[in-house]
Amino acid sequence: MRIAVISVHGCPLLTAGAREAGGMNVYIATLSRELGARGIGVDVFSRWHAPEVPEIENLAPNVRVIHLEASGRQFLSKDEIYPHLAQFEAGVLAFERREGRGYDLIHSHYWLSGLVGLGLQRDWQTPHVAMFHTLGAVKNQARAGEHESDLRIQSEQQIIRQADAVVVASPQEEARLKRLYDHAQGKVRVIPCGVDTDTFRPLEMAEARRHLGLNGERILLFVGRPDPLKGLEILIGAASLLEHPKGVRVLVVGGEGDQSDSAYQPIHALAQTLDIAEQVSFTGAVSQQQLPYYYSAADVCVVPSYYESFGLVALEAMACGTPVVASRVGGLQTTVRDGETGFLIPWHCPEPFAERLDLLLVNETLRQSLGEAAHTAAQAYRWPAVADSVLELCEELTTIPAAPFHTYEV
Ligand code: UDP
Repeated sequence: MRIAVISVHGCPLLTAGAREAGGMNVYIATLSRELGARGIGVDVFSRWHAPEVPEIENLAPNVRVIHLEASGRQFLSKDEIYPHLAQFEAGVLAFERREGRGYDLIHSHYWLSGLVGLGLQRDWQTPHVAMFHTLGAVKNQARAGEHESDLRIQSEQQIIRQADAVVVASPQEEARLKRLYDHAQGKVRVIPCGVDTDTFRPLEMAEARRHLGLNGERILLFVGRPDPLKGLEILIGAASLLEHPKGVRVLVVGGEGDQSDSAYQPIHALAQTLDIAEQVSFTGAVSQQQLPYYYSAADVCVVPSYYESFGLVALEAMACGTPVVASRVGGLQTTVRDGETGFLIPWHCPEPFAERLDLLLVNETLRQSLGEAAHTAAQAYRWPAVADSVLELCEELTTIPAAPFHTYEV
């Protein structure tokens, strides 16, 4: 089987945590590797995002990343890409003609890529599996201040209507999709995201701290893209409300890592106002290989997001044996088990987070037992099982005819 993966703005070679790269990039890279290891040919088509990257790069055995021009070779934010989708789609078609080898299945990621996927589905008469990772209508409901466009939401409707299957990562996302979008009946498949348990494994806390040059402070870890939806201000507020805030460090992993990262300006300002700026450190984006040291060095991983369709960070922390205190939203409600592997907080405000964090920071036995249970629970999400489920869906679909025609406006 040969699969064309469409990920216009999410190149799997980008470092997650910086700019717009995050869970989707990690998901595509890891799933592609797993499929490649099973002998599936995977070509990931992504927009050329820097002049120095080559057109074709081998990611793993049987897996290539193909960079295509869509308005030049410079970085464009995902909000700027829509007008260039037709050029991108033409690039995929030209590449396929040039090689003279077709694809059995299209797997698109995010709505922009879903639109390209619909065009390819029509031209190649090939089944199309779409995965949104986030949905516009769900984001708009999650947090005041989110303004995802009608164009995005209508495009998502069109993709759900015309693609052969839609993968969502959690039952909560399935419920939201069915409530907020039409035509989803019978098309949605829930397949959770996975965690690489070889990489994300418990390391000795003291050793992890030595490796990172950290001292004996209690560490509350935040890992993620600098995106307001991640709710970092809730953690900063919670840290200032702890019973003994002075012995605690909030470690923020992701973003550019220095004072000049404008995305973090409101966070710096809040930390100053709450008089805990000295206890908040910004490391910048950290590679997947280094992240287990951070998770293992932390007392608690905090995920105060307003929404997560799945929430890989919580799962990675759990796999490293670190308890998670997370918002009771989206997929986090499945991965984090309240009182067993961490705590789920139903309110987007600092006080209940502080209360649970205090409980874990004073009670080492509880913290350790939740961490051990978290590690055990994470094993259910090992990547080979996830890849098997995706492959099963692909095999089902390659025996059915592709859905009909589509156009999009440019
Ligand atoms: N990540 C990373 N380095 C960083 C920050 C984040 O590799 O500095 C990765 C993290 O390990 C996780 C992903 O980015 O795999 C974030 O996924 P999640 O589902 O938590 O959030 P999303 O980015 O999808 O909103």
